[in-house]
Amino acid sequence: MKKAASEKKKLTERELLILEIRKNLVDQKSKLMAEAEATLNDLPDEVNYPDLGDQASAESDRNFMLKLRSRESKLIKKIDETIERIDRNEYGICEDCGEEIDARRLLARPVTTYCIECKQRQEEDEKLR
Ligand SMILES: [Zn+2]
Repeated sequence: MKKAASEKKKLTERELLILEIRKNLVDQKSKLMAEAEATLNDLPDEVNYPDLGDQASAESDRNFMLKLRSRESKLIKKIDETIERIDRNEYGICEDCGEEIDARRLLARPVTTYCIECKQRQEEDEKLR
């Protein structure tokens, strides 16, 4: 066996966790993409219903689905950004204070960019406004 492989730095627990999170994000993204596509196919055409009532409900179905899709696409964008941060080795660092975000928090909310303290402070600030 060649020596090179064993000389490679062993991954820390946190690095392994981040790799796991990255894998989960990729999975989640492909699920979301599949769902978004299914929703898109279900999108009612703008047909003219003879009855105005039917047309109104078809319109609101359409609006609902569009809203749903924009929420999905926002999440997909967030996942993309998170994966990018992982690849740039910038993941898990709070954008506000620059401290490492707690691993448990990363597991619970993988797309977060703030540590729990900063997030709580922001929420407090918002309440005061
Ligand atoms: Zn912070």
